[in-house]
Amino acid sequence: MRITMIGTGYVGLVSGVCFSEFGFDVTCVDIDEGKIERLNNLEVPIFEPGLDTLIERNFAEGRLSFTTDFESAVSRSDVVFIAVGTPSRRGDGEADLTYVFEAARRIAKSMKPGTTVVIKSTVVVGTCRKVAAIIAEERPDMDFSIASNPEFLREGSAIEDFMRPDRVVAGVKDERGADVLRQLYRPLFLRETPIVTTTLENAELIKYASNAFLAMKITFINEMADLCEKVGGDVQKVASAIGLDNRIGSKFLHAGPGYGGSCFPKDTSALAATARKYEAPLRLIETTMSVNEERKRAMADRVLRALGPDPVGKTVGILGIAFKPNTDDVRDAPSLAIVPALQAAGVEVRVHDPEAREQAEPLLPGVKWCDAPYDVADGADALAVLTEWNVYRGLSPQTLADRMRGKAVIDMRNIWRPEEFNKAGLNYSGIGRASEP
Ligand code: NAD
Repeated sequence: MRITMIGTGYVGLVSGVCFSEFGFDVTCVDIDEGKIERLNNLEVPIFEPGLDTLIERNFAEGRLSFTTDFESAVSRSDVVFIAVGTPSRRGDGEADLTYVFEAARRIAKSMKPGTTVVIKSTVVVGTCRKVAAIIAEERPDMDFSIASNPEFLREGSAIEDFMRPDRVVAGVKDERGADVLRQLYRPLFLRETPIVTTTLENAELIKYASNAFLAMKITFINEMADLCEKVGGDVQKVASAIGLDNRIGSKFLHAGPGYGGSCFPKDTSALAATARKYEAPLRLIETTMSVNEERKRAMADRVLRALGPDPVGKTVGILGIAFKPNTDDVRDAPSLAIVPALQAAGVEVRVHDPEAREQAEPLLPGVKWCDAPYDVADGADALAVLTEWNVYRGLSPQTLADRMRGKAVIDMRNIWRPEEFNKAGLNYSGIGRASEP
């Protein structure tokens, strides 16, 4: 089976590469010429652990190629995936489906009869049918199938997630679509991965409902963290104990500065907008979104409070800009709200991130980028951890204390042990524990 993957972002590139690793012949297509040129030189345009090795191997073995030539790739393929971006539309928060529809029109022009078009991008309910209508309008006599196969991989562990998913969701309209997805994911059957075959609409809804639920879970524990601080609790103890209940589960119960990233903010917003449109408002999700927004502001205020009554001219060192570790993605990262809020209060900000500098630099004007984690501490009145990169876990409290001017350490990911920092003479505070300010 020959596959074309339209869009070589975090999802399209990883999915295309993993399908080639399964032995399929895959062509990855993008409109971004620079990206395709880099990929053809075996340079990986995103940071994703393990991706470079898989690209090198499958490219060398001739199963994986990269091109901007949409038409020639599509015309030779049995399956065409759409994995382009679906960002938030400015103003109303709905998903911007322009890239999906544009890709559908181009696919229609060059596809061969019998092609299955699979939408992997996260799209609002009803979109797959619209894509089918676009293709039918462009090519009224064309025989094709449409399917929805939403992706659940997480950046930072994307290959493992793709290769060992909890489930595969296959939204289909006909037997051919179902059969194509069964064949593509057959390598996972050895691991008895459940494949949920359902309607197009259910598949579209499953993706949004999953992300909205996870965003709500994070927000729940963040609010519990606030309560713990007030009443003498410890959110980590509370979270780990409630997580032992199988009905709740231990994942996504880590209190922090608020969720971010390229999916949760835009997907909650798109789902809420859809629900409003159909007059079935999702009040829990609306509240989740506003609590999360407020939280980022509250985190900036917490740092400012640690600087004393007059923050103007003070310096804050920030460890971590990416929305989570092991990725260079900074889309909607809490750092993009917290750092500018500090700057607006007259604070100088020094930042470090192991991978996100290239993406974040244009978005954070006026900050001082540091090459090494310890450098952010130089002359800092306060230090804050925003992303829990492993490289930060073992930093020496004494070295940080020696290089800092002030004493405040705000660990928004609870990666450090308070007693070690307090012993080094620093005023440590984490999230969700009684002594926090
Ligand atoms: P991305 O922005 O990283 O990549 C999208 C790519 O599509 C870009 O390289 C862009 O140049 C390309 N593109 C746009 N229009 C095109 C066209 N007409 N033809 C060819 N290429 C085109 O996006 P992403 O993070 O990979 O997300 C893709 C989709 O997957 C989104 O709907 C997202 O919600 C969903 N998703 C993302 C993740 C994640 O962790 N990033 C996880 C699950 C699902």
